[in-house]
Amino acid sequence: MNITKKLIYRRRKPTNWKERGVEEWVNDVRSVCRSLSEGSYLGYSDLANSYMEPARIYFALAARSRAKGCQSGERDEINDILFRTRSIIENALYRSISNNILSFERLIYKEGFFGCSAKQGISVRFPLFTCKPTKLCGGGCYAHDGRDKQFSSLARGVFNYIACEKIFRFIENKNNGPSKTNISDFEKQIKKAILISVADAEKSTLSGFQRTPRIRLSHVGEMTALPDIVNWLSEKILDYSNNKVTPVVYTRHPNAMKLDTSVVVVNFTIESKNDVRKKYAPTGSRLVMSSWGGEVIEEVAVNFIEHHGDKHFIKIGQGNVCPVTAAHENVLTCDTARCTKCFDRI
Ligand code: SF4
Repeated sequence: MNITKKLIYRRRKPTNWKERGVEEWVNDVRSVCRSLSEGSYLGYSDLANSYMEPARIYFALAARSRAKGCQSGERDEINDILFRTRSIIENALYRSISNNILSFERLIYKEGFFGCSAKQGISVRFPLFTCKPTKLCGGGCYAHDGRDKQFSSLARGVFNYIACEKIFRFIENKNNGPSKTNISDFEKQIKKAILISVADAEKSTLSGFQRTPRIRLSHVGEMTALPDIVNWLSEKILDYSNNKVTPVVYTRHPNAMKLDTSVVVVNFTIESKNDVRKKYAPTGSRLVMSSWGGEVIEEVAVNFIEHHGDKHFIKIGQGNVCPVTAAHENVLTCDTARCTKCFDRI
C-alpha cells in the first residue's frame, strides 16, 4: 500500500491526487469490485466489510472534490469520474446481492425501502446507475456531497432497485418473481410509509402550515428508469391512502414519457432554456430547472439554484426560485419555507 492510499484509510482526507492520477483510483475500484461481485455473502455485515475498500476510495474522492482547498482544475478532474466510480461499485453490489438473494430478502422486501429525513420527508433512494446523467449533474449531483458518506446509502439504493426489478416480475407474472410473503412484506412497507407521511403532514399543520402528505419516489437516482414501477407504486400509494398521499417524482430520464401523470406528480428537470431533454417531459408534468451557475429562467415553474460543498451560486436573471435553494443556510426544508410548489397536483 503506498503512502497516498494509507492517507485515505487513516485520515480519509487525501490531499494530493496528482500523485497517481484519478484514473488509477478508478482502476483500483474497478478491479476490486470485479472480484467482489463474484463473491458469496452471508448477510449485510459481510457485504459492508467486503466493500469497505472501494467505498472509501469513492467517498474520499467525493469529499476531496467538495473540499474548500480543492482548486477548480482538480475539482473538474475528480467530478469527471465520480459518477463512473459510484456506478462501478453499485453495479458490483447489484451482482453480489442478486447472486446471494436469500441472504438479503429481509432488506429487499421487508424493511428500509422508504427513508425519512427532515429535508426529504418520506422518500426512496435508488442507485445512480439508473441515471442518464448530463456532464454537469454526473459529477455535480448532491449524492456526492457528503450526506451519503456511508456504505449503507450505496447499498440501500441497490436493495431498492432489486426490490423494484423483482416486483416488476410479479406484476408481469414472470418466473423468478418474489413470493407471496415477499409481496405482502413489501405492501406493509408502503402502508407504513403512508402512515409516517400523514403524521409528518399533521406535524406541519400543528406548527401552523397546512399541507398534503406526500411520498417522494427516488430523491437519489432515477426510479423513472423503471416507469412501470413508478406508476404501480403511485397507484398503490393513492389506493392505500384513499388519495390522501401524493406520490411525487423528480426526473430528467428519457423514460419520463412513460409516467402516468394522473397518478404521480412529475417534476421534469432541465438544465437550460434549450435543453434537448424537454421532449421527454410528459404531458401533465411540471418543468423545473437545475440552475448550475445560478442562471434562472422564467419558462419553468421552479429554478433550483445549485449549491455543493463551498460552491454557492448567486441568482442571475428572472424566474421563480426554490426558497430553500435561495437561502439554504437559513431555510432548510420545504415546510420551513412554507412552500409546496413541487408537490401540488398539476
Ligand atoms: S420549490 Fe418549494 S416545494 Fe419545491 S423544493 Fe423548493 S421549497 Fe420545496
